Amino acid sequence: MELHWADWMAAEALGTRGTLHRVATGITPSGPIHLGNIREVMTADLVYRSLQSKNIDPDLIYIADSFDPLRKVYPFLPESYRQYIGKPLAHIPDPQGCCDNYAEHFLQPFLCALEELGIKPRVLRADRLYKEGAYTNVITEAMSCREKISSLLSEVSGREMPLNWSPLNALCRQCGRLSGSAITGFRPEQHQVDYICDCGYEGTADYSIGEAKLVWRVDWPARWKALNITMEPFGKDHAAPGGSYDTGVRISREVFGYEPPFPMVYEWIYLKGQGAMSSSTGVAVSIEDLLELIPPQVVRYLIARARPEKHIEFDPGQALINLLEEYDKLERIHFGEEPADEASAAQAGRLYSLSQPDGEGEARQMRIPFRHMVVSAQIARGSFGRLKEVLSRSGYEQALQDEERTRREMEYALVWLDKYAPPAFIFEVREKLPKEAGLLSAAQRRALLQVAERLEGYNPDAKELESMLYTVAGESGLKSTQLFQAIYTVILGQKSGPRAAPFILSLERDFIVKRLRQAAATEEEKA
Ligand SMILES: [Zn+2]
Ligand SMILES: [Zn+2]
Repeated sequence: MELHWADWMAAEALGTRGTLHRVATGITPSGPIHLGNIREVMTADLVYRSLQSKNIDPDLIYIADSFDPLRKVYPFLPESYRQYIGKPLAHIPDPQGCCDNYAEHFLQPFLCALEELGIKPRVLRADRLYKEGAYTNVITEAMSCREKISSLLSEVSGREMPLNWSPLNALCRQCGRLSGSAITGFRPEQHQVDYICDCGYEGTADYSIGEAKLVWRVDWPARWKALNITMEPFGKDHAAPGGSYDTGVRISREVFGYEPPFPMVYEWIYLKGQGAMSSSTGVAVSIEDLLELIPPQVVRYLIARARPEKHIEFDPGQALINLLEEYDKLERIHFGEEPADEASAAQAGRLYSLSQPDGEGEARQMRIPFRHMVVSAQIARGSFGRLKEVLSRSGYEQALQDEERTRREMEYALVWLDKYAPPAFIFEVREKLPKEAGLLSAAQRRALLQVAERLEGYNPDAKELESMLYTVAGESGLKSTQLFQAIYTVILGQKSGPRAAPFILSLERDFIVKRLRQAAATEEEKA
């Protein structure tokens, strides 16, 4: 059997780095955290779970880069936030005013999402790590070797480094910004640096209490050593030749004497038709929005099924149905309800278990196919009481044993219909016979009457009903599509709709019989 990529990576890391593992993941909470960011955390979580399954006792940490400075006024920020550019995210007010600071505002919903996804890292905040002194020793080392780091950076990245370059930015006591200061003195025994800020202020910062921060390219390898990180996923931008992983590796080995973590490079998640997800461009589906649309196990599945180096295209439109159907199929194979050879069954089983938030998965329960739920929820006009009737009529009464879950599935369908569904999936059962019924031909009206008569006192399943519709169409000298169009016209006022047989079964029998008879009795409009 071909190993799942997470199991392969875990085995590789065990072979090269020994058995003590701390898997790290980090995201800057500078904006809404989206599906693309989730790939980072999921990659770490999947490998972490794989290590656990090998009886290793790994650690999973998530570092919120809350000490990073605000880089620009993002599209979702008011213009007044220009004054905060350069200040650490943890020192900037929450744009909505609800949380302690800017970083927490974007962090909190993300942490809730992680919980729903069953990802349970130890959460660390970079601003606190700096304030608590976790970086003190590595900062001293970096400052002591600043010329060496400068020449490494210039050699590996090809960047021209300024003459008095420093790996450290002081947090200016006057303007509160991290960027814009030049370091003019360094006293390692007191953990102090002197600086001149471009706001004009000259002062001294104590870097053991969070009054300074390493620049990104040094911060990253410093963190590996300070936090003992052995495995870490990162986006392909950092993996480019001469990029921050390359420089990090050299700095880690040659300055900090620390073996860099086992790299797990991942590709972007693209939003269909819009490009790579990014919160700074606004092309993104936030993780909160996503979890209102699909269950957490499908989010996990979407990421777990693709090797990290493959790009993922997420299409919340019509293709969402395929994604959900593929997941349903995986579930059927896992539960032995769909034949598969031994190897693919084993692979499906592994993928299924990695997709479960709790790692185990629920006992097999009847799930309503999303496509059917989309139809049913519209017939029920969003009412759960009516939905239960629709589901009973259409042969899904078993699903009502778990009302909680069925209600959630209805909510997913309603969100999809409201925000993402293509127009072809949206319909409304008309309370009265639509005027379009007047356009039906005499043959179509005769066929509708036939269907009505045969439906009375007859309880077909979807298959039987479908073959009955074909028979009636044939006997009335119609193509089947002409009969289906007639049915949609008299119920929905449009020529197309969901698959006819299950749709008819989902409607109240009295209603449909009455409606077909009424339509059959109308006069053909003389055009
Ligand atoms: Zn808030
Ligand atoms: Zn300043």
